[in-house]
Amino acid sequence: METRELRGCSEDELIEICEKIGLKRFRASQLFQWVQQKAVRTWEEMKNIGASDRQAFSSRLSLYPLEKVREQRSKDGTRKYLFRLDDGETIECVLMDYARTRSRDRHTVCVSTQVGCAVGCAFCATGLEGFRRNLTVAEIVGQVIDITHEVRQEDPDFQVTNLVFMGMGEPLLNYDHLLQAIHLLNQSKGLNIGMRRMTISTCGVVPRIIQLAKDNPQVGLAVSLHAAQDDVRNELIPMNRRYPLSQLMEACQEYTEITHRRITFEVALTTENARPEEAEALARLLKGQFGHVNLIPVNPVAGTGMERPNPELMRKFAQVLEDAGMSVSSREERGTDIDAACGQLRRQWEGELK
Ligand code: SF4
Repeated sequence: METRELRGCSEDELIEICEKIGLKRFRASQLFQWVQQKAVRTWEEMKNIGASDRQAFSSRLSLYPLEKVREQRSKDGTRKYLFRLDDGETIECVLMDYARTRSRDRHTVCVSTQVGCAVGCAFCATGLEGFRRNLTVAEIVGQVIDITHEVRQEDPDFQVTNLVFMGMGEPLLNYDHLLQAIHLLNQSKGLNIGMRRMTISTCGVVPRIIQLAKDNPQVGLAVSLHAAQDDVRNELIPMNRRYPLSQLMEACQEYTEITHRRITFEVALTTENARPEEAEALARLLKGQFGHVNLIPVNPVAGTGMERPNPELMRKFAQVLEDAGMSVSSREERGTDIDAACGQLRRQWEGELK
């Protein structure tokens, strides 16, 4: 009999399974809460479900927690995890803690959606390794569950508050699984992470941006722009050849018209592109968009030849955009003393195995 992945099932799907195997519906709610809210990793931990019912469930449902194979901790508290999946593939995810003074602390997990990535951005360690496969719903949700489980060993009240789908892979190329995972992570009987506290980052998959606007799950959208001219962006993000800037900007307009939500435009700055002319071109491109620009000093990755610009160059770049009336921020640097750029930890680990 074919089994489903428990961590990828909604409560309604678990109710259906209960009905098929002759268990009471409330067992589905208990099971859902153990897995999605209490973040347990084994059947034995589900204390209020008897052994025979657990046995009946396990004939229909498989439970594969992710296996932590490496963890790095930064001086600023950022933790980067390398998890092994059931088939031996590995993925990265990152937990960033931000202490707040006025409201509760923010605990943000950067989630992966694919093993490897087909997009092949020039500045990205994940892209250098190529695409292996999409993550299942259970594997996407599982990253947040297993990080929660891990941190609760030290702090039993720990809760993830924010998610950014900015880890390995292009989230909009695994669209259906991404949306199902978002729905599960938002459940009040689960981790209860608000939709508005989730952000999907894309390099510009135009049809999916429009689809996301229509489906409108109330999550934030960040577009990795990185260059304001097609010839430069073609080199940085090969997908730009398929969906050039004119199409991307139209899709962004449509997205904001439908959702009334502001888009974050991400711009990675290197010693090459952190120039006033680039900033002026960016201001022209984004004129009329309902957006905000986030400047990111690039993380140096061996093999890409890219270097981080000095703070003065970044400040001048931001000033040009602000003078053009744009809202601008610089991403707070996290985990710079560990392999923080997406894909670096996995590359390093796989290199050691060779
Ligand atoms: S930056 Fe994102 S989309 Fe580009 S190669 Fe890396 S993982 Fe893929």
